[in-house]
Amino acid sequence: MIRDWTREAVLGLLRRRTGEARQALYDQADAVRRKNMGDEVYLRGIVEFSNQCVNDCLYCGIRASNDRVARYRLADEEILDVARRMWGFGQTTVVLQSGEVPSREGDAALGRLIARIKAETPLAVTVSVGNRPREVYAAWRESGMDRYLLRFETSDPALFARLHPDCSFKERLRCLDDLRSLGVQVGSGFMIGLPGESLGVLADDILLCRDLGLDMIGIGPFLPHPDTPLGGAQNAHAADPDMHFVALAALRLANPDAHIPATTAYDALFPGTGRNLALTRGANVFMPSATPGPRRKDYLLYPDKPCVDETGDMCARCVVGRLTVLGRTVGIGPGHSRRGLSKTSNREEALP
Ligand code: SAM
Repeated sequence: MIRDWTREAVLGLLRRRTGEARQALYDQADAVRRKNMGDEVYLRGIVEFSNQCVNDCLYCGIRASNDRVARYRLADEEILDVARRMWGFGQTTVVLQSGEVPSREGDAALGRLIARIKAETPLAVTVSVGNRPREVYAAWRESGMDRYLLRFETSDPALFARLHPDCSFKERLRCLDDLRSLGVQVGSGFMIGLPGESLGVLADDILLCRDLGLDMIGIGPFLPHPDTPLGGAQNAHAADPDMHFVALAALRLANPDAHIPATTAYDALFPGTGRNLALTRGANVFMPSATPGPRRKDYLLYPDKPCVDETGDMCARCVVGRLTVLGRTVGIGPGHSRRGLSKTSNREEALP
C-alpha cells in the first residue's frame, strides 16, 4: 500500500504494462472500493437540461462556435416531470447539467428550479453548469443545492490555458474553493488523454484530486469530436486504451473514500462494457441518462455517445440489469459524501 502519495508513486502505478500487473492493480482498487464504499452503487439520474453555451472549450461538441448543434433548453415543467420519476427507479439524486450561460435571470431561474425539486421530491440535487461568482453558488446553496460538479479538466495550467479560451485554471480552482466554503459537496476531475497530456500530467491529475479533498471525482477519456478544433487530434493513450482503467484504479487507491462514477465516456470508448468494467476497477456510482430521448442527439459532447436512441425509462432499467450481473446493489439513500462536510482542501494554499 502506498503511504506517501508522490508523483513517482503514482507513476509507478501508471507504468504497469503487463496484463498481470494491471489486473493486480484493478483487484486492489476493487478491494479498496468495497472496504470504503461498500457494494452499493448510487444512482444519480443526469438531466442535460440545456446545450446552450457561451464558451469555446476546444474539445467540446457543444462549444459556442459549433453551429451544427441544434440548441435547446428544457422547460422547468419537463425537468420536474423527469425528476419526479427518478425515485421510483432508485435514483436518489438528480444531476442538472448544461452548457455555460451565466446570466442574472437564468441563474435566478435555476435557483427557483432547485427549490422546487427540493420541495416536490425527496431527491438530492447536484448542479453542473460551470464557473460562477461565489454569490451565485451561495444563492443556489440557499435554494437547496447539495452538490456541484466542475472538472478541473487537467492539472497542467499551460494545457488548461490552451484548451479554454474563456477561463483560467486559477478561476476554476477558485470556484471549487468557493463551493467548498459554502458547505456544498464538491466534485471535480479530469479528462484522460487530452492531446499534450504526458504520463506525468496524468499522475498530477490524480494527485490534484487527492489534494483537493474532493467528495466526488469524475474522470473519463477525452474523445475527439469532429466539429471541434481537436477533431483531428488523437487521445494521448490511443495506442493503449486500457490506460483509462489503470488511471481509474490509481485514482481509487489515492482517494479511498470519494464517490467515483463510472462515467458515460467509458462506454463510448469500450461499447457495452466500459462502465461495467469501471465499476469493477474502482467506481461506485452510476449516472443513468434521464435526458428526454429526443434531446439526446443534441447533447453530443463527443461522438459515439451511448444511449442516444433510448429513453430515461430504458436507461433506468438497463442500469439495474447491469448491477445485477455484477452482483452489486442499488444504493439506498442520497449517497452523500463520506468525507464530512467540514473537510477542507488538503492543499497548503487555497489558490496557486
Ligand atoms: N458546462 C459545464 C462544465 O464545463 O463543467 C458542464 C457541462 S461540460 C459539457 C461536462 C464535461 O464534459 C466537461 O467537464 C468535460 O470534461 C466533458 N467533455 C466535453 N467534451 C468532451 C470530449 N470531447 N471528450 C470527453 N469529455 C468531454
